[in-house]
Amino acid sequence: TTEKPAVQRVLLKLSGEALMGDDAYGINRETILRMANEVAEVSKLGVEVAVVIGGGNIFRGMAGGAAGMDRATADYMGMLATVMNSLALADTMNNIGLTARVMSAISIEQVVEPYVRPKALQYLEEGKVVVFAAGTGNPFFTTDTAAALRGAEIGAQLVLKATKVDGVYTADPKKDPSATRYDKLTFDEAIAKNLGIMDATAFALCRDQKLPIKVFSIFKPGALKRVVMGEDEGTLVYI
Ligand code: UDP
Repeated sequence: TTEKPAVQRVLLKLSGEALMGDDAYGINRETILRMANEVAEVSKLGVEVAVVIGGGNIFRGMAGGAAGMDRATADYMGMLATVMNSLALADTMNNIGLTARVMSAISIEQVVEPYVRPKALQYLEEGKVVVFAAGTGNPFFTTDTAAALRGAEIGAQLVLKATKVDGVYTADPKKDPSATRYDKLTFDEAIAKNLGIMDATAFALCRDQKLPIKVFSIFKPGALKRVVMGEDEGTLVYI
């Protein structure tokens, strides 16, 4: 292929909820396969891909806390949920011919290897997809923050925030048909307009590290590829 990607290394953040597809809970096989195929497309182009996946399709610490659980305990359960999602995603990727490795921020040594930064960098250089499990390893954080953190650590050029909508809009496009998509925005504009692109901790980390964020839809076929090719897709948030 003569196509040349616009980025060399990216951190892709997938929400746990996206894995449910149309189901009410858990992992939808067809949906996870679709996501793995989208990643395979860009991996084939030579782009190094690391993934952080959420756990909202299984368990959220906030919900546990609201139901009367100790919040830190509930958050650890949420992180364990991301380990299950990570294992499922890496397994699906391996099934379609990618080589994926899971690295966990919480040690569960019989199940998954621990996160070791130099090893993660080595895998990426070898063209393996690295799936970062267990978020940051700390309660009271989110997998968005894990995405910003790991993205900065591995020197990703872009954090790809996969959402249901194909970018950031002036208003909710489902409610307001006149809403338009921003093709780019500065961090300051996003804050001033209160656009809530990632949680505040994740957003601040990306901004401090001058790590741009691309918001795009993981459900739009080919969108991930168009993003890495630098085509008009999604919304770029930059410094
Ligand atoms: N979590 C945490 N620390 C982290 C990342 C995640 O405690 O660094 C917990 C938290 O309880 C969260 C759950 O794991 O609700 C699942 O992650 P998240 O809500 O970010 O998943 P998503 O919304 O992307 O599905």
